[in-house]
Amino acid sequence: MGYIDLHVHTTASDGLLNPKEVIQWASKKHLEAIAITDHDTIDGIEEAIYYGKKNGIKVIPGIEINTDYKGLEIHILGYLIDYKEKWFQDLLKELRLARYNRAKKMVQKLQDLGLSITMKEVEANANAASIGRPHIARVLINNGWVKTMKEAFDEYIGKEGPAFVERYKITPCEAIKYISDCGGIPVLAHPGLIKDNSIIKELVNCGLQGLEVYHSKHDQNMVHLYNSIAKQYHLIITGGSDFHGSLHEGQPILGSLNIDKSIIEDLQNKKNSME
Ligand code: AMP
Ligand code: FE
Ligand code: FE
Ligand code: ZN
Repeated sequence: MGYIDLHVHTTASDGLLNPKEVIQWASKKHLEAIAITDHDTIDGIEEAIYYGKKNGIKVIPGIEINTDYKGLEIHILGYLIDYKEKWFQDLLKELRLARYNRAKKMVQKLQDLGLSITMKEVEANANAASIGRPHIARVLINNGWVKTMKEAFDEYIGKEGPAFVERYKITPCEAIKYISDCGGIPVLAHPGLIKDNSIIKELVNCGLQGLEVYHSKHDQNMVHLYNSIAKQYHLIITGGSDFHGSLHEGQPILGSLNIDKSIIEDLQNKKNSME
């Protein structure tokens, strides 16, 4: 008991469950708090806060911004952001427009490969959310062109796939600055999925405040390594499952990492010290 999960997606981006359903699972898992960290959108936060209050679960407003640095996919999480700020919402709107245009190009490429996919189907799947490759992948699965998400990425829309299109991305340092300017704590997401650890030092130099040491795709060695790197640079140690809504044997990965609630205090103290 007393555990939290600081990396959760909803239907506002590429998650499969809406904020209410996410809160229901958080309640079943006896979590004390979760952070909603959708890609490039804050649209899931208020509903999560509403249902969180009803269920006694604290909801931390968050964001995950995909950025690009030297060809690497770097995801920056932002915690305790002042998500109502108009300029911040406008910025996210621009990023979502870039996502939309990129999805259109990927659909065109898939059509050129002979698949009769349409943007309409992808949009219906995304349902006005921040469109991502998982929405395209689900249409590929629904039409029987691939069997799994993994296959969709391996065969078509992964970085090496024939239908992959880069999208406009800001740099990690820009994302860190935007999150800080919006009163949030910038944290590097799942460093274990990035091939180059030297980037951490560079991000610290432009204002990074935390490192996602615990993540469902980190093994023991990674946890150990990133723990020591976090200490070396005085970064806040955070963690979350990166739950996207799918269940394995009827269970979500939500809350499965037993992250201690004291991290929220660390984040809040950092925010207070910045104001
Ligand atoms: P996008 O933001 O459109 O570039 O899509 C990236 C998202 O796709 C990530 O946040 C993951 O949710 C998902 N994703 C990336 N690679 C894979 C993969 N190999 N298999 C399944 N999902 C993936
Ligand atoms: Fe995602
Ligand atoms: Fe991510
Ligand atoms: Zn994520």
